[in-house]
Amino acid sequence: MFLRELTHPVTDLKGIGRRAAESYSRMGITTFFNLAVHLPRTYEDRSRRRPFAEGHDGSQVVTVAAVTAHQRVRFKGGYALKVVMQDESGTAALLCFGRNFLQNTLRIGEKFYLCGQGKFQYGELQISSFETAPWHEDADPPPEFSRIIPFYPLSGSLTQKMVRRHVAALMRSSLKHLQNELPQSIMEASSLMPIAEALKEVHFPSSLDEAEQARRSLAYTELFYLHLVIRRRALKRREVHRKPVQYPGTLMNRVIDSLPFELTEGQKRSISEILHDLGQERPMARLLQGDVGSGKTLTALAAASVVIEAGRQAAFMVPTELLARQHAEEAAKILEPHGVRLALLHGGLPRRERNLLLDSLASGQIDLLIGTHALFSNDVEFTDLGLVIIDEQHRFGVMQRISIGEKGTYPDMLYMTATPIPRTLTMTIFGDLDISTIDTMPPGRKPVITHLASQKSRERVYKAVMAEFNRGRQAYFVYPRIEQGEQSGLKDARGMHEYLSQKIFPGVPAGLIHSQVPQEEKEQTMDAFKRGSIVYLAATSVIEVGVHVENATCMVIEHAERFGLSALHQLRGRVGRGKDQAYAFLIYSDDLTDQGKRRLKIMKETTDGFRIAEEDLNIRGPGDIAGTRQAGFIQFSFADLVRDIQLLKETLQAVLRILTDDPGLLKNEHSVLREVLEKAPPFKEELIDQ
Ligand code: ADP
Ligand code: MG
Repeated sequence: MFLRELTHPVTDLKGIGRRAAESYSRMGITTFFNLAVHLPRTYEDRSRRRPFAEGHDGSQVVTVAAVTAHQRVRFKGGYALKVVMQDESGTAALLCFGRNFLQNTLRIGEKFYLCGQGKFQYGELQISSFETAPWHEDADPPPEFSRIIPFYPLSGSLTQKMVRRHVAALMRSSLKHLQNELPQSIMEASSLMPIAEALKEVHFPSSLDEAEQARRSLAYTELFYLHLVIRRRALKRREVHRKPVQYPGTLMNRVIDSLPFELTEGQKRSISEILHDLGQERPMARLLQGDVGSGKTLTALAAASVVIEAGRQAAFMVPTELLARQHAEEAAKILEPHGVRLALLHGGLPRRERNLLLDSLASGQIDLLIGTHALFSNDVEFTDLGLVIIDEQHRFGVMQRISIGEKGTYPDMLYMTATPIPRTLTMTIFGDLDISTIDTMPPGRKPVITHLASQKSRERVYKAVMAEFNRGRQAYFVYPRIEQGEQSGLKDARGMHEYLSQKIFPGVPAGLIHSQVPQEEKEQTMDAFKRGSIVYLAATSVIEVGVHVENATCMVIEHAERFGLSALHQLRGRVGRGKDQAYAFLIYSDDLTDQGKRRLKIMKETTDGFRIAEEDLNIRGPGDIAGTRQAGFIQFSFADLVRDIQLLKETLQAVLRILTDDPGLLKNEHSVLREVLEKAPPFKEELIDQ
């Protein structure tokens, strides 16, 4: 069986009851598989004996010592127990603050395994953070005092000891059933550990080198299959020979001529690259990247008009309904005057209307269909789907991205992203796509001025925003949560909506937007905001994607450090879309870490989305083991796109070699990679907006 097939619920493991299971599920761990890939965040090497004498400089001691005396030290107006211990190198004092009960366990004359860390002060080694276990002459030392031990991310009632015990139980019950995911020949050629060994080493390593080797082996497998799936698709597409279509492009020229502005150089270049692809024998698979506001939508609509003129259909898929409606409006403005028939398909459509729409689509009376992923439900049939446009493509899973192209007879595919993808990754993960880049902004746009502000100077931010209101401008206020939850201390959209409208901007019309606001109300609010009858929005990051209101000049983001850089960049892109100078105010918490400061500084320094994306990857860098496995658009269990760039290249080479030498060798990629490929990556807004 493959690792991902370990789908038993964690409660099947000995020792995991209701409470532990609930704590696990808060970290997204519900199955054996989830627990198996719950990697330690760090390890501690307790395999070597380190007596008291080695601990004077503050380093860890791991020893066996006897209790020689109990004393008392002053503590919080009372006394705390002080246990004096001796090992072969000297003595140490355990300060048991708040743990006086230890006098019953750490009895004078008895010997204990001890692990801890302290300071040499007042003439003795004082240790206040320690673990102990009774020492027995004939028994082996417990693992906590004799091995390299893992430290896991925890939640709820879980302790390190419990997680270690549960993982160990899992290893005992499941490792023997696990089957290697790569053929022997590849494992040998790349010196990979068998999966059972790798899992054991990654959780309970025999050395730190082995632990890294183990993780590398597991990551190798993951990246290997990712490449394999993507490259197979690319090959398959290359085998397709369609009848080339002759596209006249006169409609497109008319559309472009009727625009109130000139296309930018980047748009012109991208359009001609797309035109070149359309109607080739081989279907197009092109990624159009360009910063927020660079005019990708228009570029895509121009491409659509070419296909439509030839009597074919185009589909435009976006991640949210809000965005679908906005795109439909823009498309209507640009294309309808030229006779293009377009329709908007969304989840809220009454059955009758939906059926009507689907009938018209199937009989070819709709040229352009705009909507969310509902566009690709089974009952949606096109007469002749020629072009599929996918906006904000990073919001869809790799498998979704790949399988959508299977609708129709290999339509041309245009993927768009405003999250510029670091170059290192485009070469690899998006290696099956051709790339067009819009690197020019429409003229007259002024870069957004970004201010960083501490919580304390929030009032000044409000003043600056008020000044903009007085000039007739509008603003967004973004918060990490919808409402006050357990984890308080975070400002929330609902609470701040109330606070702002009562205390700060009384009399200024305000709206509230987050994922739980009913669709209809959301639309009304957005409409009112667009018309200007609502002056500011209090929102969560659901407004992140693509929303376009030219008169909005202020973006205030509270707890800015809680958002990824790419998300901040997207949010900031909501303003500065008109001719007026726009401002972003990033308000950070008082306890901001150094790394957090560095991140926010980058937002102030640059508006270059590519640089921000690279920095986003770099800064998160190889810190702890578990921290960087999610690179925003794809979630791995073991691989880490920062650390594993080299591995990413190596696995790609291996895959390309196999696809030419022995393409039939690998068959089980789906069972191995199921989750990575099929689940859309969690939307950032869903992670935060809760
Ligand atoms: P994005 O690349 O973020 O999707 P949009 O396509 O939403 O950007 O474009 C932002 C705005 O810029 C739209 O209102 C669009 O009409 C306008 N726009 C697009 N191209 C140009 C251009 N060449 N000159 C001026 N405005 C443009
Ligand atoms: Mg867009």
